Amino acid sequence: MKFLLSFFSLILLNNTAFAEPTYLPETEVISAEVNAMRDLVDAHIITGNAKALHEGLLDLYALKKAERNGDYAQVKRILKGRDRACFNDQELNYYATNELTGKELQTKEVVLTFDDGPHPTLTIAMANLLERNRIDGTFFQVGRNIKAYPHVSQELHSRGFLLANHSWSHQNFKNLSDASINAQIDNTQNILLSVMGGIDSLNQFYRNHFAQGFDLNRVLQAPEFLRTPYGSRDKRVLDLILANTVSQTCRGSECRPNRLNHAMWLIDSLDWSDKNPVSITNRVFKQLGMYGNRGIILFHEIHPQTYKALEIIIPRLIVEGYRIVTIYDALKAQKMTRIDPPGSIRLRAL
Ligand SMILES: [Zn+2]
Repeated sequence: MKFLLSFFSLILLNNTAFAEPTYLPETEVISAEVNAMRDLVDAHIITGNAKALHEGLLDLYALKKAERNGDYAQVKRILKGRDRACFNDQELNYYATNELTGKELQTKEVVLTFDDGPHPTLTIAMANLLERNRIDGTFFQVGRNIKAYPHVSQELHSRGFLLANHSWSHQNFKNLSDASINAQIDNTQNILLSVMGGIDSLNQFYRNHFAQGFDLNRVLQAPEFLRTPYGSRDKRVLDLILANTVSQTCRGSECRPNRLNHAMWLIDSLDWSDKNPVSITNRVFKQLGMYGNRGIILFHEIHPQTYKALEIIIPRLIVEGYRIVTIYDALKAQKMTRIDPPGSIRLRAL
């Protein structure tokens, strides 16, 4: 479908042989390409082709950006072929054992995650919706947005929602130097800690909030979950993330450091690319069916359609008997199978 559309639009736009060619408005062509790419990504999600899915998602992000900018030349460049990041099997295996997706959760256990905020109005609206249904959510926030709306993040924290790191300025980590990636991580860790009221307050939050099953031998030193912008990473990026230590588990005098966790997702609502709450809902439940009715679900807290979709999704999850658990539950479930990679541990500059 994508290729047919591309071919069709190329003919329409490049063919100047006709005196009065019938052009499709560029905005319609771009939207059609975005929809076609989303269908393709949907298909890769269902077939479980991780490599094709990753490429398709990168294309979809780029197309959506070009759509926002009305940049048709960019759309053509993207469709012509772009610098793609291909994973080999070894890398896929490395990611599978060192990242959180929630695939180790029990059937009918899901984690709701919300990226890209805080947003001045939608974040609290979503928190209200979660609270009304007495369910949990983790918010992966962008440092510079926290700086702009610190009171929103503070309110989320004080209402019991866990805040996590989604970089300082939402750049693709694969394009950054090691030093820039570390700065993106550290600056956001610092502002997260400041809106959470410091490290003692974060430890207290864990004791209050994750009372059941919280390992009291574990002492947090920093927020412990990060998601890279666009979920974009390679081995270099992931190694840099995993080199950060965020907590210590001490038994007697023996202490073991725990690494910063890269939290990906299993279920992708693609809510940012789709204005229709019903098709967002259908996509989420279709994927849940494909992945054993479990996993971390990815939403974005900055889009009105996500709020509307959640108004349908949350009651349906509850009626269908799902338990909405926390990202910390996903971590505990994953720890049983995880093999920490070799390499140095980097102590975060406080
Ligand atoms: Zn994001």
